This record gives sequence, structure tokens and C-alpha cells, in this order.
Amino acid sequence: MISQKMTELGLKRSVIREIFEYGNKRRAEIGAENVFDFSLGNPSIPAPEAVNNTMKRLIEEKDPIALHGYTSAQGALPVRQAIADDINKRFNAGATPDLLYMTCGAAASLTITLNAIVNEGDEVIVLAPFFPEYRVFAEKAGAKVTVVKCRESDLQIDFCALDKAINARTKAIIVNSPNNPSGVVLSEDTIKELCELLNKKSKEYENDIFIIADEPYRELVYGDVFVPFIPNYYDNTVVCYSFSKSLSLPGERIGYIFVSPKVCDCKNVYAAVCGAGRALGFVCAPSLLQYTVAECLGMTADISVYDKNRNLLYNALTEYGYEAVRPDGAFYLFVKSPEKDAAAFCERAKKYEILIVPSDDFGLEGYVRISYCVSTQMIEKSLSGFEKLIEEYR
Ligand code: PLP
Repeated sequence: MISQKMTELGLKRSVIREIFEYGNKRRAEIGAENVFDFSLGNPSIPAPEAVNNTMKRLIEEKDPIALHGYTSAQGALPVRQAIADDINKRFNAGATPDLLYMTCGAAASLTITLNAIVNEGDEVIVLAPFFPEYRVFAEKAGAKVTVVKCRESDLQIDFCALDKAINARTKAIIVNSPNNPSGVVLSEDTIKELCELLNKKSKEYENDIFIIADEPYRELVYGDVFVPFIPNYYDNTVVCYSFSKSLSLPGERIGYIFVSPKVCDCKNVYAAVCGAGRALGFVCAPSLLQYTVAECLGMTADISVYDKNRNLLYNALTEYGYEAVRPDGAFYLFVKSPEKDAAAFCERAKKYEILIVPSDDFGLEGYVRISYCVSTQMIEKSLSGFEKLIEEYR
């Protein structure tokens, strides 16, 4: 008998993938230019020129055995040093190479971190709306997932609900800001209140609760919005970072884990991270990508396109009568469904060839996620459909 749980997981396609596959069918039937597919969070702008140039130069100039060989399991030392220097330059957070672990993107960062810190039966809190894979990763690590819904008015943390959800078994809370699927950035006040509550609860239960800061969208913020660097506010923080979105490299699989030096017993936590990476069979992150990102720190893809898309979509949709919290980051707009059943609303949107994702799998019912990492032209062409769609509810 094989694993029932893994079989179910493998057979069940995510709603996002279902919609994307439907889009493929429609693209074949009516032409790609007539389908308004807002389903995926795949960056739509290319990686910076410097990324490609760095890769080419490394291939031409670096010793091929070293370039394509295994690195240390935790990542090549000069790469970790460069990342530590970058973290310290930006956040003054005391990063050192021996607390950094290179990974295959945020998904690997999260799954390694969860396996490193969770014991069977521990509880991990996720704040809804949340990235649906959190549940998969946390449960596989042996945790029970507790969902705490955010305040609907601004999608910041509902501290009353969070207070009630924390207990002696709480091992960690996953914080994702800027957020997928809402685009909301948690304010500094929210982070401070969160840290206060976690410090109080850690003391009460004599159990250090971790913040797992999932930060693939850290650099994707618009205007002068401030994204607090959580290790500077809360000691027991592990950062799960990825270059997938900031450098538009999701298929290349590169990111890192940073165990803050202020984490209680940080050397042992880092050892557990290394052990989890080993047990999960990651061996090492792709070496070409490690060396490439080390030379491209501080760069981002041209995110002004996302900002333009955000303004265009948010302004038009709210003018038509849709309700949404204005996103400050990432590339998602989280819109209140005009009917209770968000899946039914998404079905109706298909009439206008608009493909959007119902929020149920993100842990908060009654919304839809619209990914605006698409061409501006596609958004412009889709707007009359969005307008007609909401008119059906008047
Ligand atoms: N965390 C969040 C919130 C995401 O949105 C994603 C991907 O969309 C990931 C983690 C996984 O990112 P990666 O492609 O770097 O594994």
C-alpha cells in the first residue's frame, strides 16, 4: 500500500491550476488575445539584463567543475557571505554566513524551516488569506495547522482571534508580507503588536514561538510603503526568502533561509535547518544560480509595470463598484465577490473570458484573487468585461 495522503495530494489539482488549464483550452479555441487569464502568479516581466549577463559570464569565465559541481550543502561560502553583507547593509541584522542556508526558492525555504522546528503534534498558525501550500508543507512536517482570519476591513491581523488561537502547543506563526493573495503589507504597528503578543504568550507558556517570515515579495512594494524586517522586531524569527519574484526567476529555484542571530539557541536551529535540508534530499541549491544571485543582490526586475497594472486595475474595478483593499505590494488584487459563493462568481466571469481564482483555498471565503502580473494591454482589454460582470449583480 502506498501513501494515501500523497496519492490524494498528487491527484488533486489546485484550483489555480484547474483555471489555468481551462485557460489553455480557451486559448486554443478562441486565440490567446481573447482570454483574460489572471490566474497565475508567474512574473510577467523579464529578469534584469544583469542576471543573464552574469550567468553568461560565469559560464564563460568560471572553472566549469566548480561552477556546475556540488556546493556545500548550506550553499557556497562566498555566496552566503555576499547575502549576509547585503542583509546587514540594508537591515543591520547581524547576519553571518553560518546562519544562512541557500535553498531552491521559498517553497523549499518553508518546507525546510517547518521540518527543522516542528515536532509531531505542534501547532502552526497561518493568517488567512494565506498561500495554500502552507497547509501542505506544515502538515507534512507533522504540524496541525490553525487558521486565524485577518480583519476584513483592512486584512491586517485580528489580534483578538490570534490571542485565542495561541496555546501551549503553538510552535510558529507564518507571516507573509507583502501578502499572496491580498497584496497587503503588514504595517509597522501591526508587526509591533504581533511581537508584543508573541513575547507575552511565549513567556506565559514557557515556549519560544517562532515567526516564519515568508518573504518572496519583500521588494515588490509600490510608492514609499515600508516593509518592516521582522528579525529587527522579534528575536525568534526565521526568514524564508526567494529570488523568484524579485528577479523574475521562479523556474530557476533559488532562495535562502536566514536564521536570525537573536533566535534562541540559533546555532542549533541552524543545525536543524541543515538537517532538514539533508533529510528532505535537497543536497544543495543550484550552483549557477547561487553564484548568479550573489552578484545581483539589490537588483529587481522592472516592477514599475506591476505598479502601473495595480493602479489601472484597482482604480477601474473600484469605480465599477467592486470592493477591494488597495494592495501595497506583490502583484495580486483581492476583490470581494459580489455573491457569497466566490466560485460561482468566478464561473460567471468566464462568460467574459475572465479567469480569476476563488479565495476558498486561501482560507477566507467570499473573495477572488486577481493576479496582475500580466500585460497592461490584457488588463485594458478585460475591463469592459469586468464592468459588465458586476452590472449583472445590480
Ligand atoms: N510563498 C508565497 C506567499 C508565494 O506566493 C510563493 C509562490 O508564489 C511561494 C512562497 C513559493 O515561492 P517559490 O517559487 O520561490 O518557491
